[in-house]
Amino acid sequence: LREPVAILVPDHFNEHASCRIDQIFQRVTIEQADPALVTEEMRRTVRGIASFGGINAALMNALPNLEIIANFGVGYDSVDASHAAQSGIMVTNTPDVLTEEVADTAIGLLINTVREMYAAEKWLRDGSWVKSGAYRLSRLTLRGRSVGIFGMGRIGLAIARRLEAFGLPVAYHNRRQVEGLAYQYHPTLKGLAEAVDTLISVAPGGASTEKAVNAEVLSALGANGIFVNIGRGSTVDEAALAAALASGTIAAAGLDVFADEPNVPQALLAAPNTSLLPHVGSASEHTRRAMADLCVDNLVSWFAERRPLTPVPETVQVRPRS
Ligand code: NDP
Repeated sequence: LREPVAILVPDHFNEHASCRIDQIFQRVTIEQADPALVTEEMRRTVRGIASFGGINAALMNALPNLEIIANFGVGYDSVDASHAAQSGIMVTNTPDVLTEEVADTAIGLLINTVREMYAAEKWLRDGSWVKSGAYRLSRLTLRGRSVGIFGMGRIGLAIARRLEAFGLPVAYHNRRQVEGLAYQYHPTLKGLAEAVDTLISVAPGGASTEKAVNAEVLSALGANGIFVNIGRGSTVDEAALAAALASGTIAAAGLDVFADEPNVPQALLAAPNTSLLPHVGSASEHTRRAMADLCVDNLVSWFAERRPLTPVPETVQVRPRS
């Protein structure tokens, strides 16, 4: 780069990404992505943002020279990508490099939920094994299950491949059927839930999936039903899920994501038939480093060659200003 480009980065950003930005750009930190914290100097100089989501239209409007938002993560529902597109701002995300890691986590969470490993480990650690003997037999098993995937995209497919190796039949729901994919397609989520007893959601957040997993879908899943969410908390009606778990409408749930992170509804925390993780789908050092590299490589490619590596669909048409 001929001249240093100012990149706005919120505090507590990924360390490897921050180091790389320091080497190539001028890193400008902001306590949080809040337009009220934008200074006159930021207004004048900032041409890029690297962030872990949370970029709204007001922040974009506060930065008149902003050209690109490099989102750290594949899910970018907390970046207003349609406003970015209208404003000629490129948005990039970090697909593919996290796919296998998140699929691994989904399978771990599924087994943890079905075989109650969270409770069995607690039983060992709190001395119950010594005091009271063997942990009880798990009520549920993966054997004989059929699995529905809500969101058969990159990660959904990686989960399906794993489930195939487990000997479990897979079906899915997307808005569009995936061409050439042999798994059974269901044009509605309710239809998918009726056809399976195990539902894994890996759909993106946003208006089109908001509370899609509702009371009706959970009831269609049935009393032996398992629900696993590795996608976004906003896709679930959490009150309906808590009620379904409490009433036995479904058997158990494994959740990595929540509607209002890091706050988890008390009813889900208190339920005995939930396995809950603090949004760790991609959270290994290995995968977060790969995501950091792709996030920064998008900025480098944009400012050096005027082309992004992994633009999100909404901003594919955005062209550099100069
Ligand atoms: P993809 O874009 O490859 O897949 C998304 C899939 O969801 C597509 O098949 C799409 O099909 C489907 N979909 C989108 N909107 C709808 C809708 N309204 N109704 C039904 N299906 C829909 O994304 P990835 O597989 O790479 O990632 C998926 C999501 O996983 C991310 O958006 C992110 O939210 C989440 N994620 C969570 C992580 C974690 O740490 N827990 C880590 C990484 C990702 P179609 O367009 O045909 O509807």
